[in-house]
Amino acid sequence: MNSWHTLDTAAVIHKLDTDLEQGLESEEAGRRLLTQGPNELIEQGGRNLLRIVFEQFTSVMVLLLVAAALVSGLILGDWPDALVILVIVLLNAVVGFWQEYRAEKALAALKKLAVPRVKVRRGGEVGEISARELVCGDLVLLETGNLVPADCRLIECVNLRVQEAALTGEAEAIEKSSDVIEQIDPPLGDRLNMSYMGTVVTYGRGRGVVTATGMQTELGKIATLLQQTTPEKTVLQLKLRQLSMVLVFAAVALIGLVALEGFLLQGQSVKEIFLTAVSMAVAAIPEGLPAVVTIALALGAQRMLRRHALIRKLPAVESLGSVTVICTDKTGTLTQNRMTATVLQMSDHGLELPGTPETADSFSQTLSRDSVAQLILAGGALCNDAELTGGEGSIETVGDPTEGALVSAAARFGWRKPTLEACFPRIDERPFDSMRKRMSTIHQLNDSGGTITDLSETLQRAVRLLGPEQAAAVCFTKGAVDALLPQCTSLWQAEAPIPLTKERREEILRINADLAGDGIRVLGVALKPISNAKQHDPDPESDLSFLGMIGLRDPLRPEVKEAVDICRRAGIRPVMITGDHPVIARYIARELRISADDRVLTGQDLQRMDPRELSDQVESVSVFARVAPEHKLKIVDALQARGHLVAMTGDGVNDAPALKSADIGVAMGITGTDVSKEASSMVLQDDNFATILAAVEEGRIIFDNILRFVRYILSSNWAEILAMLLAPLLGLPIPLYPVQILWMNLVTDGLPALALGVEPGEGDVMDRPPRNPRQPILTRASGIHILWVGTLMAILALGIGISGYRLSADTGAWRTMLFTTLVFCQLTLALVERSRSASLVQIGLFSNPSMAVAVPLTFGLQMAAIYVPFLQVFFRTVPLTLAQLGACLALSLVMILAVETEKLISRNIRRRRL
Ligand code: ADP
Ligand code: MG
Repeated sequence: MNSWHTLDTAAVIHKLDTDLEQGLESEEAGRRLLTQGPNELIEQGGRNLLRIVFEQFTSVMVLLLVAAALVSGLILGDWPDALVILVIVLLNAVVGFWQEYRAEKALAALKKLAVPRVKVRRGGEVGEISARELVCGDLVLLETGNLVPADCRLIECVNLRVQEAALTGEAEAIEKSSDVIEQIDPPLGDRLNMSYMGTVVTYGRGRGVVTATGMQTELGKIATLLQQTTPEKTVLQLKLRQLSMVLVFAAVALIGLVALEGFLLQGQSVKEIFLTAVSMAVAAIPEGLPAVVTIALALGAQRMLRRHALIRKLPAVESLGSVTVICTDKTGTLTQNRMTATVLQMSDHGLELPGTPETADSFSQTLSRDSVAQLILAGGALCNDAELTGGEGSIETVGDPTEGALVSAAARFGWRKPTLEACFPRIDERPFDSMRKRMSTIHQLNDSGGTITDLSETLQRAVRLLGPEQAAAVCFTKGAVDALLPQCTSLWQAEAPIPLTKERREEILRINADLAGDGIRVLGVALKPISNAKQHDPDPESDLSFLGMIGLRDPLRPEVKEAVDICRRAGIRPVMITGDHPVIARYIARELRISADDRVLTGQDLQRMDPRELSDQVESVSVFARVAPEHKLKIVDALQARGHLVAMTGDGVNDAPALKSADIGVAMGITGTDVSKEASSMVLQDDNFATILAAVEEGRIIFDNILRFVRYILSSNWAEILAMLLAPLLGLPIPLYPVQILWMNLVTDGLPALALGVEPGEGDVMDRPPRNPRQPILTRASGIHILWVGTLMAILALGIGISGYRLSADTGAWRTMLFTTLVFCQLTLALVERSRSASLVQIGLFSNPSMAVAVPLTFGLQMAAIYVPFLQVFFRTVPLTLAQLGACLALSLVMILAVETEKLISRNIRRRRL
C-alpha cells in the first residue's frame, strides 16, 4: 500500500480501522501483533542454535582431528585411539557450544534492551511500549530526538522536522505537514505527510498513524542492502589474531622438530608420528583465542548490565578499561535530576517557595498580593511540556525534571496545569533547544477569563500595561537568564514595566550569579503581548518583558563524590561539561572535588580559542559551562588529539556527533533521546555517573581475565611442547601419547582456563592507571613469565618421568606419572595465575566459584583416566601406587611455590618504588 499520502486523516483512520482519539484497543493491538509479526528488521546472517552447533565441528582443527581419528580407525585399525579422539572432540564441542550459546544469548538480550521505546495512545491512554510491539493503526507520538519507529501517516505536526538521510540520503531535516498530497507517486522525500522508520525527529513534535511495520516499511525494503553481516572486530581480537598467527608458525616449526626426532632418534612408525603431530597441532595452535575474546566480552557486557550499564557496541567493553578522561553532563548525571523550585526572584525582591505544607498557607497569601510573582509562576508552568500525573491532588509530573518542578510548584499553589491550559490554550510554540537555551509558547487570552479569574485579570492588566493595542494572546518565554535578557527590552518592577537599562541588566545578571553561587539552577521568565493580527508572530522571542527568575534545587547524587575519588585513583580525569551557568558549574565542581582550581571555560571562551590554545586548555581545565553541543565535539577532538581515550556522555539530539566521535559515547537511559542512544556505545540505565565507573571497572577486569587466560594457555602449551621436544634428547621414548595430549589441551587445561576467564577481579583494578591501548597483549614481562613457568612445568614432568623410567621402564608407570604431573601442574598453576600480584592466601581459594568447581572436577577426571579400568585402555595409563601419585602431587606444589615467590619479589620491588 503506497498511497497513504493521498488520503485524508479520516480515510487513513478508516482504512486502518483505528480511532483518532482512542487509538487501538490493547487486545486488538495484541491480535494485530500476532498476525503482522513484531516491528523489527530481520537480520541476515544471525546465528541460531544450529549454526553454533555446526560451527563447533567445522573449524579446521576439529576437522583435522576427525580426519585423524578416521585415518587411525579405518586405515591403521586403531579403534581405541579413534574413539577417544572422537569423544574428546565431542566434549570440546559441548563446552564450546555452551560458551558460545551463553554469549549469543547475552548479546541477544542486550540487543532487545537496546530497542527504543515509543509513546503510543492505546485505549485512550498514552503509554510507552517497545518499538517491537508497534502494529499498523497504532497512534504514535513523535518528539524531538525520537527515531521514527515505523512508517507513519502524520496527522498532526507542530514545527515537526525530520531528517531522512537513512532513506533519501538528504542530510537537511525536512519540515513535515499533515496536509493531503495530490500527486500520485512522488519520491519518498516529497511525501511530507509521511514519516518513515529509521528517520530522525530533529525538531518539534507530531502524531502519526502507523501504516507499515518491520520488513514492510520502506527501510525494511532496502534493509538487505544495509545490513552488515559480520560484526566489526575489536582491537583486542585483531591483536590476538596476529598473535595466533605468530604462534601457529612457531608451533608448526616445533612440531616439525618433534616429528623429526621421532623419526631419527626414536624410530617411530609413520602412524605414530602422524598422530602425534596432529594432536600436537590441535593442542598447541591457539586458534580459539579470538573466539574466547568474543565470549569474554559478551559475558562481560552481561555483567555490566547488572550494574546498569547497557552495552550497545561490543568493542566498548574492552575500550572501557583504557579510558583516561570521562566527560560528563551535570544535570541528572552528577545531580539527581529531582528538581524543586525553591525561590521566585523578582528584580527587587525574592519569595521563598514553601518547602513544607505548614508554610504553604502564608506563602499563598503573600503570592496573591504579588502579581509579578504570579506571572512568573504561571508563565513557568504554561511555557512547559511536562505534565501532571496521578489523580486530583497529586503533584507528580512526567517530562523534563526542570519543567516538572515548575508544574508542581504551580500545582502546589492551586494552579493545576490542565486547568491553566484550558484557560489559556497554547496556539503556537518555539521548542527548547540547547543552542538558544530558551523556549516560548503562545497562549490565547480569553475575555471570559476561564476558571482562574484572578490570574486572567492579572494577565490582562499586564498586557494592557505593556501593549499599545488590544492583545489577543500572550507569549511566555523561559530560559537561561543570559540567553533571555538580550531578547528583552523592559523589566517588571513594583507591578509595572520599566525600561531595561544597562545597569538593570547587570543587576539581574548579578542576582542570577549569586543564586548560582549557592548551587541554584536559575530560569528566567519573560512575556510579551501578541496582537490579533500577529497571532503567528514569526519572531515572538524579541522585545520581551523580563518578569523575573525561578530558582531550582537539584541535590547531588550521594554516590558521585566517591566515584570521583575512584576516578582519581584509577588515573582517570573527570570533566564536567554543562549547558548551565558557569557559577553553578563551579559550585558543583567544588562540592564534588572535580577540579582542584576554580577554572571554568565557557562556550564563548571555546569559540574564541584557536585549536592550539584549546588543546593546551583541555589538558588542565576540568569544567566547561554554558556550552552548546557543538562544543562537546571540539572538546572530544582536542582531548583525543592529545592521546586521551575519551568517554563522553550526552542526551540530546545535537549530542550525537560528539557521542559518535568519542571513544565511548555514553547515553542517558532515562532522559536521553533515541538519537543519542543510537549514536552511543553504552547506555546508562540510571543516568548515573557512578555507573560509568562501574563499567570501567568491569572493563578492566575483563581485560585482565583475557590476559590471564592467554598467559595460562600459552604456559601450558609451551610445557607440553617442550616435554615432547626434550624427551628424546634425554633418552626417553615418546613421553605423551596423542590422546593424552588432546586430553590435556581440550579438557584438563581447558576447564581451568575457562574459570580463569571469569575471575571476579582483585579489588585493586581501580587503583592503577588505565592500560595503554597501544601496548601489545603480551608484554615482555608476560612473555618471560610464560616461558619460565612452562619450562619449569616441563622440567618437573620430565624429571619424574626420567626417574620413573630409570627405576622400572617396563611397567609404563613413568609415562602415566609424567602425564599426571603435567595435569596436576596445570591445576596448581591455574590457582596461582588467578592473581598477578596478590598471593593465593590473600585472594582466597574459593573466591572464584567457577575455579572452585573446575579444579576438583579436572582432578577427578584425571583420577578416572588413571584408575578406571576401561579408561586405562583408552588413555594407555597404568594405575599409580599411592607413593607415585603423591610424588606427582608434591611436584605440582612446586608451581605454587615458584609463582608465589615471583609475586612476592615483585610486590617487594613495587613497595620499595613507592
Ligand atoms: P545541563 O548541562 O545542566 O543539562 P541544559 O543544556 O539542559 O544544561 O540547560 C542549559 C540551560 O538552558 C539551563 O541553564 C537553563 O537555564 C536552560 N534550560 C534548561 N531546560 C530548559 C527548559 N526546559 N526551558 C527553558 N530553559 C531551559
Ligand atoms: Mg540538560
